[in-house]
Amino acid sequence: MLLPPSDWLSQAPLQPLQLDWLATAGIEVALLRLDQIDPLISGNKWFKLVEHLKAADRAGAEGIISLGGAHSNHLHALAAAGKRLGFQTVGLLRGHAQETPTVQDLQAFGMQLHWLGYGGYRARNEPGFWAPWHAQYPQLYAVPEGGGGLTGALGCAAIKQQAQAQLHTIGWSDYHAWWLACGTGTTLAGLVLAEAGAHPVYGALAVPDDHGVAPQVESILQAAGQGNEGYELIDASRGGFAKVDPLLLAFIEQTEQASGVPLEPLYTGKALLALKQQVEAGRFAAGTRLIFIHTGGLQGRRGFIASP
Ligand SMILES: *Cc1c(COP(=O)(O)O)cnc(C)c1O
Repeated sequence: MLLPPSDWLSQAPLQPLQLDWLATAGIEVALLRLDQIDPLISGNKWFKLVEHLKAADRAGAEGIISLGGAHSNHLHALAAAGKRLGFQTVGLLRGHAQETPTVQDLQAFGMQLHWLGYGGYRARNEPGFWAPWHAQYPQLYAVPEGGGGLTGALGCAAIKQQAQAQLHTIGWSDYHAWWLACGTGTTLAGLVLAEAGAHPVYGALAVPDDHGVAPQVESILQAAGQGNEGYELIDASRGGFAKVDPLLLAFIEQTEQASGVPLEPLYTGKALLALKQQVEAGRFAAGTRLIFIHTGGLQGRRGFIASP
């Protein structure tokens, strides 16, 4: 049994975010803290795993095998879930063995690691890649890199329910739109599916255009039988994935001091800075209410800040 009881995870708190540039523009933002769903498991990666865990359960698997890098939030959430729920996890890692804080956690959570090198990792989408791993671990169910695809997206519908159930606690009866960071666009696609046009979803791209987020979102929506609408992608990558610059770092520091909310520079920091720029450009009318999803990722920032 890979799945927790349905009431096992606490709700991500929904909190008003008070910042001077929001007040000036008359925009209200509520923060959905996916970074606080569990002591070990953090962020959107848990939601992306849920339907994969159900599929693994249906297949009679005893655990999960998946892939990622040495700072991977996905492998971290998977290993944490395996530890919390008591199922076996195996991680196939990009590159050569190294000790990052993430890797140390993976090991502490009991995940078995295999380092594939760079060439070996690049082969992950080739036919035949999984055959030797299935032979070695016949009891495990394979989840693609990052937990993506329609299966990953469907688990993210619960994010909408979590926010909706708490609107009254912050005095809102409704909201105008969502704002969140995108890496593959899977989480965004899940929200677009859950909304079915009721509220638009703005995706701040943490990766440059050539990463193919737009076609990936479109293919998930298509696989679910929905049209390619209900969302908009905004460039927030600031020159490339994981590229940081002084303005971004200063913004994160100021925001953390003003709000007490921890951010990291790859996703949540860039997404909030992109929102600030859009707000200052007059994108949203005064009185607009937005839900900003804190997608987590704080575990990955340890290694990042130690080695800029
Ligand atoms: C993975 C990740 C994202 C991007 O999620 P996608 O579903 O790939 O778009 C955003 N924020 C954080 C912190 C992440 O770890």
